[in-house]
Amino acid sequence: MKSNDFDLFIIGAGSGGVRAGRVAASLGAKVAIAEEKYLGGTCVNVGCVPKKLFVYASSFEDEFQGAKNYGWDTGDIHFDWKTLINNKNNEIKRLNSVYERLLSESGVELINGRATLTGSNTISINDKNYTASNILIATGAWPDVPEIHGKENIITSNEAFYLDSLPKSIVVVGGGYIAVEFAGIFNGLGVETTLLYRAPLLLRGFDDEMRKFLTNEVDKKGIHLIANNTIESISKSEDCYKLQLADNSEITTNLIMCATGRRPNITGLGLEKAGVELDKNRAIKINNDYQTSNPSIYAIGDVTDHYALTPVAIAEGMVLANALFGNKITDVDYKNIPTCIFCQPNFATVGYSEEEAREKFDKIQVFKSEFTHLKHSISGSNERTLMKLIVDTASDEVIGAHMIGYDAGEIIQGIAIAIKAGVTKAQLDSTIGIHPTAAEEFVTMRIPV
Ligand code: NDP
Repeated sequence: MKSNDFDLFIIGAGSGGVRAGRVAASLGAKVAIAEEKYLGGTCVNVGCVPKKLFVYASSFEDEFQGAKNYGWDTGDIHFDWKTLINNKNNEIKRLNSVYERLLSESGVELINGRATLTGSNTISINDKNYTASNILIATGAWPDVPEIHGKENIITSNEAFYLDSLPKSIVVVGGGYIAVEFAGIFNGLGVETTLLYRAPLLLRGFDDEMRKFLTNEVDKKGIHLIANNTIESISKSEDCYKLQLADNSEITTNLIMCATGRRPNITGLGLEKAGVELDKNRAIKINNDYQTSNPSIYAIGDVTDHYALTPVAIAEGMVLANALFGNKITDVDYKNIPTCIFCQPNFATVGYSEEEAREKFDKIQVFKSEFTHLKHSISGSNERTLMKLIVDTASDEVIGAHMIGYDAGEIIQGIAIAIKAGVTKAQLDSTIGIHPTAAEEFVTMRIPV
């Protein structure tokens, strides 16, 4: 019997697909990976990496202001968008080639083009057909723009990364990760920024008290917040757009960016032909082993309805490759996934919110610390920091940690390790702090609120 061309054929060379391919190849599997756009997927090209570079760029204004109180004469300050874009693009090009090298060094065959499933074990790409014992779909997701009259005038984060110039004003629509992060970016770069969201508070699903605090901090940064509202229609006049809102008010702006969620990338994949079913959100349905309704086809990352986070897709890719080719059965631990919204200040979190904890545990204790970061004691910034710990009273285990403040993402990563290891409040209390840091507050909160 003729053997298949590949042991594993991966569609999509993003974070999850590339990691699955490299691990599978290191375990001796013959692997191909198909990619129609760019290596590294959303994270490298139009997501985490360029976003974080933009966040850094946007935070300099505050730094320059604060520097004056520290005795620095910063002179005239200018920002040049083109320089930022060029340097960002060069860094992405560098990362694209790193990905290419990593794939070729691990023996994964890269096929450029759009792959379509033609059966359980067959794929067609560039008019050529391939066979594979296993197929992995790791095609990620794409921004979703609501059906609004005039939606052709809206950009998404994809385009925001490549604007020719910065607008004078922008309306960012949505109250999730991308909207809050980009509002901070544009505002920090001097664009008159409005954040328009349909809920009373930003970031649904996170701890309510943290959300209120963050909404206030974002407001203090000068972002104009419009809550409980949506766009009904958009009309274009000369150099601006007129937005008709649901409450009958009207606003004008030079640019509109929607960050209203992302939709799994499944168009034209040939899923029906291969008998791969979708769930109610039009994401690929998988079981606990990442297997779709077709047993030889798997899916990981944002194309499924799991957590849309790069490190999660990477973890899924590794677990799957190890299970298929290394006889090593492990699980991705979806409990206590830490996450950070890179707005200004950062909002990072791990574990249960206070509301979730009150529902799931008989009795909890909440510890809180709100303060001005030492840096801002003389910088002139009115930014405040909030930290919060949630503890299960019965076991004394720390079941949630939340922080809004400078470098919260860096700090919560460490706390997440402790929580995953089952840290108790008593153990946090007996940990010696590093003084003077903001992080030491996590080991010095003594009195529950
Ligand atoms: P999110 O799901 O985080 O947020 C979408 C937002 O859009 C919500 O506020 C939602 O409101 C709102 N919305 C949805 N539909 C409409 C509509 N028709 N009209 C008005 N508002 C609407 O999606 P994002 O696009 O921000 O990000 C996608 C995912 O990518 C995130 O969930 C996250 O997992 C990941 N990501 C992670 C980042 C990180 O780790 N730092 C950064 C960026 C993205 P409501 O809440 O009321 O439904």
